Amino acid sequence: MSKRDYYEILGVEKNASEDDIKKSYRKLAMQYHPDRNPDNKEAEEKFKEAAEAYEVLSNSEKRTKYDRFGHSGMKGGQDFHGFTDANDIFSHFSDIFGGSFGGSSIFDDFFGGGGRSRGTRQRSTGTPGSDLKITLKLTLEEIASGTTKKIKLKKHKSCSTCNGTGAKDTNSFKTCTVCQGSGEVRQVSRSLFGQFVNIQPCQNCSGTGKVISSPCVKCKGEGREYEESTIKINVPAGVTDNSYMTLRGEGNAGKNGGHAGDIIVVFKELQHEYFVRDGDDVIYELFISYPEAVLGSDVEIPTLNGRAKLKIEAGIQPGKFLKMRDKGIQHLNRHGAGDQLVKVNVFVPQKVSAKEKELLKELQNQPNIKVPI
Ligand SMILES: [Zn+2]
Ligand SMILES: [Zn+2]
Repeated sequence: MSKRDYYEILGVEKNASEDDIKKSYRKLAMQYHPDRNPDNKEAEEKFKEAAEAYEVLSNSEKRTKYDRFGHSGMKGGQDFHGFTDANDIFSHFSDIFGGSFGGSSIFDDFFGGGGRSRGTRQRSTGTPGSDLKITLKLTLEEIASGTTKKIKLKKHKSCSTCNGTGAKDTNSFKTCTVCQGSGEVRQVSRSLFGQFVNIQPCQNCSGTGKVISSPCVKCKGEGREYEESTIKINVPAGVTDNSYMTLRGEGNAGKNGGHAGDIIVVFKELQHEYFVRDGDDVIYELFISYPEAVLGSDVEIPTLNGRAKLKIEAGIQPGKFLKMRDKGIQHLNRHGAGDQLVKVNVFVPQKVSAKEKELLKELQNQPNIKVPI
């Protein structure tokens, strides 16, 4: 099945700005979002198709590649000649469609954090702590095999003196006079449709039913302190740029025993000096000399795991891709790794000495050197 053009999918011009692409994608994603179209296969396909197009066109590196090579530049195809088992570069879409990370940050932007559900949380008293968002920059090497990062940040922590209660001691509480200790306030309202009873947590005691008569001296009754903390983040291998991970309960502590917020870690992939990422594969451009191309050569080139040897067959043609199996990025949430794809280029010198010129001229007239017509 031939794929539709990404620009066509998003309904934008080839020279569309990043903003236009985002806007157009947002519109489509809202229209075809599975929540709005339950059990609608066609909408789901359209939703995925738009997400795929957006994934490519919103990334300047991928967009450039797509503009130059089309779909064949994105996976398998004539440029990647002979790769029957090229990895599906969109395997990392599990991030967006319900992988263990619960979504991508684009969805956070677009759906107001709707990708993450708070519904499963236990209802607790007090005022909940806020979420913290941190951006974690990662090198391709770190992404390739996963890494552990320690981050220092300031956040509200549960007060160690009062254990987060905000009270001086256990005798420092009295029953809330607003809700008489129930922690709830009922509001009855009448309308055209009848009577409504609205039950809300009591504001006076934050739903605890009790108020503090003598507050904790250290935190002045808030139950939390603002302190520097060190957070350990285990980054699994294979994460993608802009995907995120939620560390439940690691955000700001709540007030008066309210549950803590989360830390949302957004991954940012740093551009690599030599490698271009393509899904879990990495592409490396290798230049060899003309004699090396004709005679073959053993070269040593960088990989994400140090240097490795690569054999160049005699008579190799420029533009050919060589595959170094499993030298790419480890798959996220499944076994195995991508490959390193080496694009072979032939270096053509622009400056040659008189002697080199002479040798080249002599070579030029040899029968096997001439371009056959
Ligand atoms: Zn109350
Ligand atoms: Zn305290």
